[in-house]
Amino acid sequence: MTDSKFDIVVIGGGSTGTAVARDCAMRGLRTLLLERDDIASATVGTCAGMISSGLKYHDEPDIMKMCSKEVVCWNHIARHIIMKNPVLAPLLDLSDAASDSSYMDSYSEHVEERDVPAMMFLTPDASLEIEPMLHPEIIAGVYYEEYFIDPFRLCLLQALDAINHDAEIRTYCEVIDFEINDKQEIEGVIFYNRVSGATESVATKLVVNAAGPWAHKVAKSAKDELPIRLNKGAHVIFDRRIVNTGITVKAIDGRWIYLFPHENTTLLGTTALDTWEDPDTLVASFDEIEYLLQSMETVLPSIREARIIRTMTGVRPLVPDWKVPERNVTRGYRIIDHSENDGKKGLISFLGGKLVTCRHMAEAVTDLVCKKLGKDIACSTHEKPLPGNEDDVDIIALSKEYDISLHALERMRARRGTEMLKVLELTKEHPEWKTTICTCEPIIEAEIRLSIREEFPQTLNDLRRRLRLGTGPCQGTFCTYKAASILSEELGLAGDDFLVDILDFRAERWKGIRQSLRGEQLAQEELAQGMYACVGNLDQSDVDYDLKPWEEGH
Ligand SMILES: Cc1cc2nc3c(=O)[nH]c(=O)nc-3n(C[C@H](O)[C@H](O)[C@H](O)COP(=O)(O)OP(=O)(O)OC[C@H]3O[C@@H](n4cnc5c(N)ncnc54)[C@H](O)[C@@H]3O)c2cc1C
Repeated sequence: MTDSKFDIVVIGGGSTGTAVARDCAMRGLRTLLLERDDIASATVGTCAGMISSGLKYHDEPDIMKMCSKEVVCWNHIARHIIMKNPVLAPLLDLSDAASDSSYMDSYSEHVEERDVPAMMFLTPDASLEIEPMLHPEIIAGVYYEEYFIDPFRLCLLQALDAINHDAEIRTYCEVIDFEINDKQEIEGVIFYNRVSGATESVATKLVVNAAGPWAHKVAKSAKDELPIRLNKGAHVIFDRRIVNTGITVKAIDGRWIYLFPHENTTLLGTTALDTWEDPDTLVASFDEIEYLLQSMETVLPSIREARIIRTMTGVRPLVPDWKVPERNVTRGYRIIDHSENDGKKGLISFLGGKLVTCRHMAEAVTDLVCKKLGKDIACSTHEKPLPGNEDDVDIIALSKEYDISLHALERMRARRGTEMLKVLELTKEHPEWKTTICTCEPIIEAEIRLSIREEFPQTLNDLRRRLRLGTGPCQGTFCTYKAASILSEELGLAGDDFLVDILDFRAERWKGIRQSLRGEQLAQEELAQGMYACVGNLDQSDVDYDLKPWEEGH
C-alpha cells in the first residue's frame, strides 16, 4: 500500500455512507466521504423513516432481532429525532387475521426491549374510537406501535458527528474513476467536483462503496461487477396528518401497504416494482398512485378527499435474489469484499440493508476495515449520542424566555434537540431573526442562518432536506423567495445563481407533484406556477431538472 492521505474513502452520503463515515471517524481512521449530490438526497430521503420492528420480515427471525436491537440503540443515541406511532390494521375479513397470526407472535417476542405494548386485537368500536374515518363495517382492528426517525436529520447528524471526529465530508463530488496499480490494488479515487467543475483525486488505503442503487455503477468504474436487484418504491404525501394512527392494509396483490402520519404530513406507501431504469429519472406513475389510493380506500373510504401535495420515489438497492417476489427478498445486507472474488483489492461494497440497520451495517464494515488496516479499535456508535441528544429541552420555558411560539419551538426541538439553543442564542443579537420564514413547518430565520453556517447546504433544496423548508401544504409557494435571499446573503451568491436556485427548487417541487394533480388542485398549482412564471418573471419552460444552479445549461 502507498502512503495515503486517507485510510478510508466512503462513497455515498445516504444512511449507509454517513453511518460508515461516523463509525470510521469515531475509531480514529482518517476518513473522507464523497457524495455526488447532497447528504440524504437519494433513496434514504424517499423512505418512510420507519425504524421498524421488522414485522414485515417475520420469516427472517435474525433480521427481526437485529431490527429490534437497533431500535433500542436509536432510542438511546437519537431520541430527539424519533417519533413513536400507534398503528392499526383494520380487518374487513377474518381470513386476514387467521392467516397472519404468526406476525403477532414474532412481534411480541421483542416488545419489552423496544418499550412498546404487545400486539392486541381491538373491537370495531374501539378501533373506530381511535380512528373515526375507518370503514364502519370493519370487524376488528389489530393494534401495535412502531418507531419512526427523521431520515434527513439522521444522515446529517451522522455526517456532522463524523466531522466532529475529524472526518471530511464533501458533497457535490461524484466518484468517476479509481487509481489502480499493477497488483489490482486501489490506491486512489478520482472524482468530479460539481461545484468547481474540476476533476480531483485523493489517495486512500481502502474504499467503502455505499452508493445504494448506484453501487453497481461505482463497482463498474473500478472495472468490477456487482450484481444488484433494483426495486422502485413510491409514496404519496398528504398535506397534513390526516389520520390519528398509522393504518396498514393488504393491497390488491396481497402486499401490505401503509398510511403513516409523518412529521406534519401523512405518507401513503409503498409500491415495489423491479426496475432497470436510471434511479435518477424515476417518478411515481399514475398506476402506482391508483394502486395505493384504491387499496387504502377499502378501509379508509374518504382517502381521496385528502389533499395530495407530492409523490416521492426511491429505489431499493436489494440483494440480487432471483426467482422470488420482492417481498421475499432478504432485508438483510451483504458486505462484498471485492478482493475475495478476484476483484479489486481495497474495494468493499454494500448490497441490501435498510435505514433501520445502517448503524449495524457500518459497524460490520468498519470492523472489516480495521482488520484490513491492522487496527483493533472497538465500535462506540451504539453508545455515544448523536449531536442534540445530550439532554431534554424545556420548550415551555424557552418559549417564554425568547417570546417565540411553542409550536415553532416544538418543531425546532424535533429537528435539533439541545442544539436548538444555538439557534436561540443567535436571536439575542438579532431579534429580527425570530421572523417566521416558512409558515407551514414553521421555521424562523435564525434557524435558516444557523443551518447555512454549520450544516453546509449549498442550495435551497439542501435547506429543504435540513429543515423541511417548503415541504408543507404550500410547497414553498410563500417561503422560497425569502429563504433564497437569506441563502444568497450568507453564501454571497451572484444574482443569476439566486434566480437559478429558485428555479431549481421550484422544479424539484413540481417534479414531485405533477403526477398526482387532479381537479381543483391542478388549478391551484397552476396559480402557484403562474405566480413564479409571471409575477416573479421566472418561466420554467426551458429548465433542465437534473442540473444544479452552478452547472452549465440553466
Ligand atoms: C420507498 C421506500 C421506502 C422505504 N422505507 C424504509 C423504511 O421505512 N425503513 C427502513 O429501514 N428502510 C426503508 N427503505 C429502505 C432504505 O431507504 C434504504 O435501504 C436505505 O435508505 C439505503 O440507503 P443508502 O445509503 O444505501 O442509499 P442512498 O440513500 O441511495 O445513498 C447512496 C448515495 O450514494 C450517492 N452516490 C451514488 N453514486 C455516487 C458516486 N459515483 N459518487 C459519489 N456519490 C454517489 C448517491 O447520490 C446517494 O446519495 C425504503 C426504501 C424505499 C425505496
